Parts: sequence; structure tokens; C-alpha cells
Amino acid sequence: MFKKVLIANRGEIAVRIIRACRELGIQTVAVYSTADKNALHTMIADEAVCIGPAPSKDSYLNMKAIIAACEITGADAVHPGFGFLSENPSFARTCEKCGITFIGPRAVSIEMLGDKAQAKETMKENGVPVIMGSDGAISNIHAAHTLANELGYPVLIKASAGGGGRGIRIVNDDSELEKQMTAAKQEALACFGNDEIYMEKFIVDPKHIEIQILADNYGDVIYLGERDCSMQRRNQKVLEEAPSPASFMTPELREKMGKAACTAARVCGYRNAGTIEFLVDKDGNFYFMEMNTRIQVEHPITEQVTGIDLVKQQLLIAQGEHLSIKQEDVQIKGHAIECRINAENPELNFRPSPGTIRSLFIPGGFGVRVDTAVYQGYEIPPYYDSMIGKLIVYGKDRQEAIAKMTWALSEFIVEGVSTNVDFQLKLIRRKEFIDGNYDNGFLNRVDILKQERSNG
Ligand code: ADP
Ligand code: ADP
Ligand code: MG
Repeated sequence: MFKKVLIANRGEIAVRIIRACRELGIQTVAVYSTADKNALHTMIADEAVCIGPAPSKDSYLNMKAIIAACEITGADAVHPGFGFLSENPSFARTCEKCGITFIGPRAVSIEMLGDKAQAKETMKENGVPVIMGSDGAISNIHAAHTLANELGYPVLIKASAGGGGRGIRIVNDDSELEKQMTAAKQEALACFGNDEIYMEKFIVDPKHIEIQILADNYGDVIYLGERDCSMQRRNQKVLEEAPSPASFMTPELREKMGKAACTAARVCGYRNAGTIEFLVDKDGNFYFMEMNTRIQVEHPITEQVTGIDLVKQQLLIAQGEHLSIKQEDVQIKGHAIECRINAENPELNFRPSPGTIRSLFIPGGFGVRVDTAVYQGYEIPPYYDSMIGKLIVYGKDRQEAIAKMTWALSEFIVEGVSTNVDFQLKLIRRKEFIDGNYDNGFLNRVDILKQERSNG
């Protein structure tokens, strides 16, 4: 049993993990940057260690400082949350070398799946359908031209080390190819320190459907249904729901995708919670896109519809316990929706809006859950992600969940900074959303603020 877990993260996910540890009787250590001295995670953990100045590279990405914090406090495990070091194989390896359990997969699995081009190859070899594209990375422009013409334009250039929707470029014809490859390489290098790129056929208006899995140390893998993350802006998720609307998802497709996801995890010797992201086309064909080897931002909607606490499961798996849940025990019940609440100004092209929260009202009530780390008087620092919380609702069916989300968003008040609360409210009131009739391209086609349809 872990005695003490250090949480190598900040914000709402750090708070979420501290709470799970508390329920399991595990002591917690927060780490914080000088900008997060008054952050909630710093205040509510049993102990807190300052690991450096505000910029992430000097604090939340500073492996030496984090390992030192483990040693000083005697923490026996590290939970990396999402973002930051959560998918960094050398961090996982360093923890293990220092005798600290990394609450996640083995470093080799992170390495293998973190290289998205290589991961696709492995999946293909094991019978998991993948999006047509380059066999591994691509660098030669002549080979790229030939392949793009074979696939047929448009194609996407993607970063092998990519994440967070960055390093993705669309190419519409031969004349743009070289320019976009160069741009993608530069962006990949700047964002991920690795300029390797690969090519994929661009699938027109698919849906982003991802499968949550849990895998233990002993080869047992189960799937916990899907999350529909098709509501995206610039390849970044805005709102998620579980299950996917019944007009799209069938029990047969869910089972097929669930089994493919379990295969994907098994062939990598995966352990931990994990997510296999698929694109699904209009005909219900699904294709492996990538696997995220960590807890996901949108994990609460799966928790709501399955009743399974995913963070506690991560802790139990990392402690070496066998999965206590069997596939037949997993029942999807009711409907959950999550809206990401960001400190940003939708009117100014979603520009981040850091600053002090002067006034705050967080809705509650039957079926409403808010995962956040902000409070009245809190100053949102400008250094980190603009997501300040997640509003999650659970209803007996989709209609009830939408009704709850509508009143919960209407009651949500944040003053002092701009947020996307009104944007989310307009979004969930759209007929297309209410009808469950949307795909990954929806927010590109529709201007939610204008409430008008534009063409294309
Ligand atoms: P999810 O499916 O969990 O939403 P995202 O890709 O949106 O996954 O990433 C989760 C979090 O991690 C977000 O806060 C995002 O900004 C951050 N993130 C993802 N990839 C990276 C990366 N390579 N570098 C820095 N932050 C990242
Ligand atoms: P990241 O690692 O940044 O999360 P993903 O590979 O998961 O990148 O892709 C992010 C999003 O980009 C997807 O959810 C989808 O909307 C879009 N996308 C990625 N690949 C394709 C593709 N081949 N065709 C169409 N859209 C795609
Ligand atoms: Mg992704």
C-alpha cells in the first residue's frame, strides 16, 4: 500500500488526485511553482514543496526538482496527472530508477505509444484498423508527393510526438505539400523538441470517439465504453459526452471498438488507465488514431456513467493489485456531459484571459459535478493552460443531461476574467447538438457566437 503519493501537476487534476488519495488513506505531497503559492492544490495537500519559478520548464517539467521533492518528503509514488510529464518516458524511467513508483504505464509502453507513427505501425500489424497513410515517419519530399497522390488530397501532416492538437497541418494539393511539411516540422520541433512527421489521409467530417480502458500488471484489460469528443475547436476538445448519441453509436459498434481498444492495450503490454482515440466515419468504419497513456481531461464523464473512480483505479493498479472489475461488471447507465470551462475570451478569438477572480458562483445540485481548483479571490496565473475547471452533469438520459447542463451553465458566474461559459451555453442550445447531429467539423462550419450558419 502506498503511504505517500506526490502529485506532479497543478490545477483541477492535482486536486482530483489528492481527493482520491485521501479516500484511500494515502498521504499527499503537492509540488508548486512560485506562481502557485496560493493555488488550491498547494493548500489542500498534506505537504507542499516549491519546485521552482513560474515557467513550466523550470517547475512542473523540472524532473530533478520533482525527484528531489519525493526524496525530501519520502513519497513512494508519483502521480503525473495529464500534460506536463505524464507522457514523458524518461521521467517514468527516472522514477523507477530512484525506487519511486510512477503511477502510469511502463516507460517502454509510453515510448512506443508516444511515437504516434510507430504506434500506428504496431496497431496495423496486430489487426487494429488504422487511418491510411505513411508507414511510419516521412521526410523525403518525393516520397511524400507520391504517397499524397496515392492517398488522394486532402492529407494531413502530423507530428510523431504530437499532442494537444498541435503540429497538425492540412494539405489540399501538391503545390502546398512542401510548404506545409516544413511548417509542420518547425511547429513540431518548437512544441515537442522533435521534428519527425507522418502523413495521413484526411478523413472528412468524422467523429472522434475514444475508448477508456483499464489494464493491470497481469494482462487483464477491460473497456469502459466510449466518450464522444467530436465537439472540437482547432483539433482541441471543447465538450464531451458519454455515451455517444444513440443516433450514431450502436451496442455492436461499441463492442467492436471496445475489443479493438483492449487489443491495442494488450499488444503494448500496457498497464494503467488509458484511452484509445479513434476516428469513425459516416459508415461506422473506425480507425485507430493514437493512445493516450495517462488519465484524460474528460475522464469524469466515464466515471459518471460507469460508477467507477478512474483515479482510484490508477492508484490500485500501480500498487500492484489485480483489477477487481470484470468486463461483464461494466454497465453504462444514464448520460454524462462535460463542458471545459476556460479563462479565455471567445469574442477575441479565444484569447486566454488570466487575472483575479473577483466573484465566483459554482452551480451544484442533483447530478452536477464541478472539478476545479479556482476560488473567489484566486489569481489565475498567465503561465499555464487556460482551463480553470470542468462542469460535468449526469442525467438518466441525454435529454435530462442537456437540461441539467443548461441550467448549470446559466447559474455559473465568474467575474474578473473572461470565460467561455456563455459560448458553451449557446453551443448546447444549438439544434444540431440537441439532435446529436454533429461531427469534428461542426465548430469549423458554424459560428456559435453569431448563431448563423456559414457555408463550407
Ligand atoms: P485530453 O484528451 O486529455 O484532453 P489533450 O491532448 O487535450 O488531451 O491534453 C491534455 C492536457 O495536456 C491539456 O491541458 C493540454 O494542453 C496538455 N498537453 C497535451 N499535450 C501536450 C504537450 N505535448 N505539451 C504540453 N502540454 C500538452
Ligand atoms: P493530438 O495528439 O494532438 O491529440 P490526434 O492525432 O489525436 O492529435 O488528433 C487530434 C484531432 O485532429 C482529432 O480528434 C481529429 O479531430 C483531428 N484529426 C487527426 N487526424 C485526422 C485525420 N486523419 N483526418 C481527419 N481529422 C483528423
Ligand atoms: Mg489526440
